[in-house]
Amino acid sequence: MSLPIDGIHDELLAAASPGCRILLKAPTGSGKSTNVPSFLTPRGNDGPLTVVIEPRRMAARLLASWVAKQRGSELGHDTGFSIRFDSRYSPATRILYMTDGIFSRWLQDDPQLRNVGTVIFDEFHERRLAVDVALSRCLALQESSRPDLRVVVMSATLETAGLADFMGPRTISLETSGRTFPVKTHYRPAQAPVIQRSGLPPREVPIWERIADVVKEAIGSPDCGHILIFLPGTYEIRKTCELLENAAFTRAWQIFPLYSGLTPHAQEQAIAPSSQQKIIVSTNVAETSLTIDGVRTVIDSGLARIASFDPRRGIDTLHIHKISRASAEQRAGRAGRTAPGVCFRLWSESSHAHRPAFDAPEVHRIDLAETLLLLKAVGIDQLETFRWLDAPHTASAERAMALLQQLDAIDTQQKLTPHGLAMAALPVPPRFARLLLAGLEQGCVSESCFIAAAVQGEPIFTGRGNVSRKDFHHPGSGTDFAAEYHALQSAKNLRFDPKACGSAGISARAARELEQGFDRLLALARKRAWPIEAIDFPTHAAAIGHAMLTAFSDQLGMRLSSSTMACRVIGGRKGKLDEESIAKHAAAFIATEMTEIEGREVTVHLRRATAIEIPWLEELFPHDIHRSDGVAYDETRRRVVARKETRFRDLTLESFESDQGVNLSLAAEMLAERVLAGELLLKNWDVAVDQWTARLNLLASLMPELGLPSWNHEDRVAAIAQICHGSLAYKDLKDAPVWPVLRDWLNWQQHQWLDNYTPEWCDLAYGRRAKISYPAEGDPFIAVRVQHLIGTWTTPTICSGRQPLLVHICAPNQRPWQMTKDLASFWASGYKQMKKDLAGRYPKHDWPDDPKTFTPPPPKPRNWIFRQRNIPHLNETFLFHLRQQSKVHKNKKLRWPQALLG
Ligand code: ADP
Ligand code: MG
Repeated sequence: MSLPIDGIHDELLAAASPGCRILLKAPTGSGKSTNVPSFLTPRGNDGPLTVVIEPRRMAARLLASWVAKQRGSELGHDTGFSIRFDSRYSPATRILYMTDGIFSRWLQDDPQLRNVGTVIFDEFHERRLAVDVALSRCLALQESSRPDLRVVVMSATLETAGLADFMGPRTISLETSGRTFPVKTHYRPAQAPVIQRSGLPPREVPIWERIADVVKEAIGSPDCGHILIFLPGTYEIRKTCELLENAAFTRAWQIFPLYSGLTPHAQEQAIAPSSQQKIIVSTNVAETSLTIDGVRTVIDSGLARIASFDPRRGIDTLHIHKISRASAEQRAGRAGRTAPGVCFRLWSESSHAHRPAFDAPEVHRIDLAETLLLLKAVGIDQLETFRWLDAPHTASAERAMALLQQLDAIDTQQKLTPHGLAMAALPVPPRFARLLLAGLEQGCVSESCFIAAAVQGEPIFTGRGNVSRKDFHHPGSGTDFAAEYHALQSAKNLRFDPKACGSAGISARAARELEQGFDRLLALARKRAWPIEAIDFPTHAAAIGHAMLTAFSDQLGMRLSSSTMACRVIGGRKGKLDEESIAKHAAAFIATEMTEIEGREVTVHLRRATAIEIPWLEELFPHDIHRSDGVAYDETRRRVVARKETRFRDLTLESFESDQGVNLSLAAEMLAERVLAGELLLKNWDVAVDQWTARLNLLASLMPELGLPSWNHEDRVAAIAQICHGSLAYKDLKDAPVWPVLRDWLNWQQHQWLDNYTPEWCDLAYGRRAKISYPAEGDPFIAVRVQHLIGTWTTPTICSGRQPLLVHICAPNQRPWQMTKDLASFWASGYKQMKKDLAGRYPKHDWPDDPKTFTPPPPKPRNWIFRQRNIPHLNETFLFHLRQQSKVHKNKKLRWPQALLG
């Protein structure tokens, strides 16, 4: 059968010279994955290898077996595959399909790709992080020591413009459109939950039941072809298949599940051409990776499991997400490959518009620690200079670096450590690599392997059945993983029978997967000739605790008291330890699972814990233990107390408070902080102080030649700290004098300047005075009744005439009638208008027709006290002394300084 890709066979071969860069875009089913590697790789026993990188294990294996058949050889000879934990290839292999994870490890072991002639990146549009990085490294390799390497990038849906720029000007772009037929789209959104008998909550219709309804509808049409159903995961696929197999309307149909956990044979059966009508119930592997001929109906749940960083477990996990519009388009396209088709979407047309247009590339979704560690291990140290197609977000790069540092994979200068090098050589994420290495150092390899497999796998306890985790606990084991291990043994004894396991509260599937994962890690250890002892949690409790602490030090928790399960967790979090945890009697513990509980405050539910002893912290992380001899603030007594504490990072291990021996300068700092925040009030810090600072700032800016210090926020902070010095409690502080501190700010000469150039009072005609206001922002001003301005014909100034005062000319009721800096023109014209407006309303006041010839009555003597005592001059320094020394003021609460100012 000819495929669209055959049409560009010659073009492709012409472009594929040594050192070429080819960007190939063709729709799904065109023959890219099967034919392009074949075209580029002549049959024969020697010649360089063609590596095809696939994002999915299932695709790599199925494609390899199909291509092997087409090239007339047995799988593993001319054509082979290599995926995690399974591979089939030999020295004679010329085409090798592999996953991106395996290719990353290849690049690690052989950065020159010595036997490889061509690297083909398939399904590039999936934008896997490992693929982004591998492409970048292959392009760099081509530019340095491997100018002969051929690099081909293939994709079905890619926005190729940006990628072509990234790959550089010598890139040859090829494209073939292929055949496509129209696909009609129907939307089948969920109905409202079904109302049940009284007392029961409304029941959501599960997705498999909705799918079955749509299958029934689709089968009604005569040319529905094969039906392809997209679901997010194995569980939903199994449920759907079960339901369809038992339904009457699918009696004439064959039903095939398609997901990675199936045997290769079952997978091949699902995608093999067939004349009988069939329904394929698949994960998103059938979206673009595999093509099934004869599909004319697609039923799309709109969901997929997408890898993203899971803060709950601190690792990447597959969570169910709504797919993007681009993915939905691809899925629909599967129905129109050979003839017109239909697509049913299990969501509404209106919600479709709200879906994201594209999926974010993985570099923006998943944990970067492993990728960054692998780059460091091959000497790519400067991550900023690495050629990223999309650079990682700074926050996630920093989080990854912090983790690597905690795991001692890199040092404080971000250089790879010997530990880091060893971790990069292990094909597991860094945290688990560290756990395995710590297991080796501590002598608990088997237990570490088991825990690494358990944390990465799905939970083995279902929470149902008549047995709980507690029943599997063994005394003295110190870790909840011991219970999981015993549960696994039970499941094994039950031969992983789903029913029997289920009634023991164990998921048979999770148990089987855990068993496999554990075996693989043990095999890894065995290959390295690590000493493997029989599992014995109680005997190895201390070793296991040490190993867990090494790998999960950022998940350390401590109970607040023995009476509650409430805990403090590193990172300033609060948490609650699971009631059933065996670690609840320990001083501290490591929790490998943290679920956020939404509430008034964010708390985390802590599970799968391992007991820790406090001395181990100092033993393993001596640099993270901090002993401080500091202070703390007692909110209720509003006083500072001495506090001795021992912390591990930000987690307090021990603390002790006392009123004795408080460090005075720390106390001052702590009180000052509260004063600045407005929590504590200094009674003597009043308007007059703010006026003083405003005057100082004005003078410093208008007369810079005086070299006065200006007053800014830091000065305020420093002054308040100085005022607070010597106080331990608010009661000592609230009446603390302010002026002595401010006075010390300036020397005698500077005080003189301040009083002369920015006086507090402004002299007016006929012996009158007006108080000058210095606002923090804007011009200084006086507010004076118009009658008192008579005789003052020009605007008064300060700062040696550099700053005219803004005059608020007030009516007899003290409200400003006009504000001006030009008093002369007020007298020339404005006054007449004012008189006209106000004279009628205030007849008792003087409104002379010609103020220039009018003599006002003398002012009443106001500052009589100073006159009596013959005090020549009033300034703050003087006022301060008065306030300090006057017993009259203090004892009798005579408010005369205020009266003087006003
Ligand atoms: P592309 O990579 O462009 O999406 P493929 O190369 O995967 O296309 O597929 C091209 C053709 O090969 C399809 O028509 C498909 O039916 C067929 N094909 C590929 N693999 C298999 C297989 N394992 N079994 C049956 N048919 C297959
Ligand atoms: Mg393909």
